[in-house]
Amino acid sequence: MVFETTSAGDDGIDEPDDSALATALHQLNTAAEYVDVDEGVIERLKRPTRVTQVTVPIERDDGTIETYTGYRAQHDDVRGPYKGGIRYHPDVSAEESVGLAMWMTWKCAVMDLPFGGAKGGIVVDPYDLSKRETERLTRRFTEEIRDVIGPTVDIPAPDMGTGPETMGWMMDAYSMLRGETIPGVVTGKPPVIGGSEGREGAPGRSVAIITREFLEYQGRDLDDTTVAVQGYGSVGANAARALDDWGANVVAASDMGGAVYDADGLDTHAIPSYDEEPNAVTSYDAPRTLDSDALFELDVDVLIPAAIGGVLTDDNADDVEADIIVEGANGPTTTGADEIFAERGIPVVPDILANAGGVTVSYFEWLQDINRRQWTLDRVHDELETHMLSAWDEVREVYEDKDLTWREAAYVVALQRIGEAKTMRGLWP
Ligand code: NAD
Repeated sequence: MVFETTSAGDDGIDEPDDSALATALHQLNTAAEYVDVDEGVIERLKRPTRVTQVTVPIERDDGTIETYTGYRAQHDDVRGPYKGGIRYHPDVSAEESVGLAMWMTWKCAVMDLPFGGAKGGIVVDPYDLSKRETERLTRRFTEEIRDVIGPTVDIPAPDMGTGPETMGWMMDAYSMLRGETIPGVVTGKPPVIGGSEGREGAPGRSVAIITREFLEYQGRDLDDTTVAVQGYGSVGANAARALDDWGANVVAASDMGGAVYDADGLDTHAIPSYDEEPNAVTSYDAPRTLDSDALFELDVDVLIPAAIGGVLTDDNADDVEADIIVEGANGPTTTGADEIFAERGIPVVPDILANAGGVTVSYFEWLQDINRRQWTLDRVHDELETHMLSAWDEVREVYEDKDLTWREAAYVVALQRIGEAKTMRGLWP
């Protein structure tokens, strides 16, 4: 199956649009110019190994039957089992799943985790379903994809519209079908059934660690750094609070309801995160409130887009006044905006490095499940720190060696690892 986007040329990249797949293909092609990897391997990586489409019928609470479509895209597993989230959203499609699966392949490789990339989901608005309906949908979806997932094959995790509870149902359904308890089939579970301490806060924490390292690399003092964070959910709030705790001055934060600003620094723990109270950032008593979009124009040292993809575009990139951008969300910067930031000399620290704490702690969860041994939160934090610093060092070395952007350097690290693994394993048969 060859996936190309409608606006793309023959090689899939001539006229890149901003879809996940177009962006993933564009980034692959850019990185391919800088690595010593066989062209045939690059061609292979433009395609997924397989995309499974399933039909998921459920009985609604009113007794009627509704039928949904689900997907699991598996991009590449040369370095280990496929790994990636399950999304419940009306826009889920085969093409989007493939693009997001590719991102997971690069993210796991840049972190040197023994996983490949996958993504999937169900075309559904989760707000349309009751909790019992969501449970039935999850169990039936798990049954439909049971032959392509498993702790040594493909390990799903939460994504948009799914969470720890969904993963608990998936784990239970898979275990019931196999006749034994198999916690390692999914990550992001509640700790009481094999989830890891620290998983929820991990992507935000890794954003904070990478921001701290980047500032140190530039010879800046965290205590003299101002930070603006777009999105105050799992990633944004945890990143803001960690940076605040470590001495940075978080001056602005936003959510869908607006933004708050205090030049003297916000009390990040007092601002409700999305989980604590959805879209209530402006309920915090700040000297100034702003429109959400005005946050991008603030003259701060670090801007952390941590809400959704595609928010920094060629329409607003020229208005960004920050010195550094650290991507908390997946894909917040479009290809056009990336080019503008490169021209303007604003470094963009990419998502596949900065927010990779999530999949890294998922790896720790998988290890804990396989070993049937729970780690303490301190151990999770220590190991996360070690993994993030080692990935940061690798990306920095490539950045210093070659004349690349930070994003290109991260992709080069990932692609080199995948290419070498493919070469060493050879081609079957
Ligand atoms: P979340 O739902 O917990 O929070 C999202 C926040 O963004 C909310 O505060 C919401 O109000 C805000 N928001 C949405 N649209 C906005 C807009 N236009 N302007 C301002 N604020 C807006 O989500 P999350 O889990 O923190 O994920 C955020 C991003 O990080 C997503 O791109 C996600 O894919 C990515 N990510 C999440 C994880 C994870 O494990 N949670 C891991 C890696 C990457």
